[in-house]
Amino acid sequence: MKKNGKNNKKDKDNKTKTNNNKDIEVRCPFCGNIIEKKELNSHMEIHPSKVFDWLYIGGYNTATKKSDLEKINIKYILNCASECINLFENDFKYCKLDIKDLPNFNIEEYFSQGIEFLKNSKNNNDGNVFVHCQLGKSRSAAIIMAYMISEMKLNTNEAYKLLKKARSKIMPNLGFMNQLREYEKKILVE
Ligand SMILES: [Zn+2]
Repeated sequence: MKKNGKNNKKDKDNKTKTNNNKDIEVRCPFCGNIIEKKELNSHMEIHPSKVFDWLYIGGYNTATKKSDLEKINIKYILNCASECINLFENDFKYCKLDIKDLPNFNIEEYFSQGIEFLKNSKNNNDGNVFVHCQLGKSRSAAIIMAYMISEMKLNTNEAYKLLKKARSKIMPNLGFMNQLREYEKKILVE
């Protein structure tokens, strides 16, 4: 009896402790690390974000981690950053767009090449696609938005909202946003 009483107390203590931690700590669904709940959003930015079942967006950080790419079944990589190299050309099929994250940079020139790569990769249906730039914020987001405008007939605002739902930090620079709006006019008028 005495022993049981002691164990019960210990169980109770452990339970209380676990519950307390649960309120402030969570397990990251991607890497499995235990992190503070309030840090989860910013922590998730280092991981790829799922846009569709076949499409992910993220930063160069992810592009350097082969195991992370394999975890989400990536076969195709669309590199949208002129300064980032394709690290695993034997393992993934790459397309590189030499885009600079500057508002006056003509990103529209790269829309069709990026969209074609996304379309073809999706149609092959034999692995997922990862689109990245440096941070997964401006260039990669603009290219995916161009895809959404062209292939899903969304307007720029709708594409922005849809992508932002998948990755809250996306923010194409203002010049890119203006070029997307011009592109939208051409596409949606057709
Ligand atoms: Zn994580």
